[in-house]
Amino acid sequence: MKILDAHNHVGFSVDGGAITYETLDREMRRAGVSRFVLCPIDESGHDPCYTQQNDRIAVLMKTDPRVIGFGRVAPAHCPDPAAEVRRMARIGLRGLKLHIISDKFKIQEARPAVIQAAALGLPVLCHSHHTSFTANARHWRALFADTGATFIVAHGGKDSYKELARIAAKFDNVFVDTTCVTINRSRYLFNALGADRFLFGSDMPYSHPQIEQLKWRLIVEDEKQLEAVFSGNACRLFGLDPAAL
Ligand SMILES: [Zn+2]
Repeated sequence: MKILDAHNHVGFSVDGGAITYETLDREMRRAGVSRFVLCPIDESGHDPCYTQQNDRIAVLMKTDPRVIGFGRVAPAHCPDPAAEVRRMARIGLRGLKLHIISDKFKIQEARPAVIQAAALGLPVLCHSHHTSFTANARHWRALFADTGATFIVAHGGKDSYKELARIAAKFDNVFVDTTCVTINRSRYLFNALGADRFLFGSDMPYSHPQIEQLKWRLIVEDEKQLEAVFSGNACRLFGLDPAAL
């Protein structure tokens, strides 16, 4: 079965998470992954617009046809986040990564960047973090409702997985990835939302495509549904031909 891994990072995070492109390349091959989304990581000394990291992802995207590059920006700290999102699109990046915890912002502060991403057709991959989702649920809901963007909420909402399931059920522009989430929570989300709303991912270097594949294979018995999660939904989102993976 073809695998598109829709959430990975490259580089050396200040939190200790670290992976080189060479290791990522080897692990993706080992896990049978055909294409993978690659995002910057919060490296020490990065500028708030992630300019150099975004450039690096764009270069990797040109040299490795498996890479679907996402740019990153710290919306509350980059002087003009919408301008950096426009630059991302110009250098060929295919999505926007937002991390509310490591980039220290409130989700509502991401609105200008999200609106710009929506205007350019770039999906927005958002980290979710325990109670921060519950505490700010009305702001997430507002972004889902009126920015016109397509969202990928990472980590299944973590501790707020039930709240995410309730909210995401109302918005079909919201996809969920269950990277680094327990099998119990992943199954709950799957039962609540159905196969068409999930993008397979591994959030390398924090989990691994083989671990995440095993989790999904234990949750989903139907091959067609598994195919939707592993690559079909992502192919629709990125406009890719599943036969060409
Ligand atoms: Zn991530």
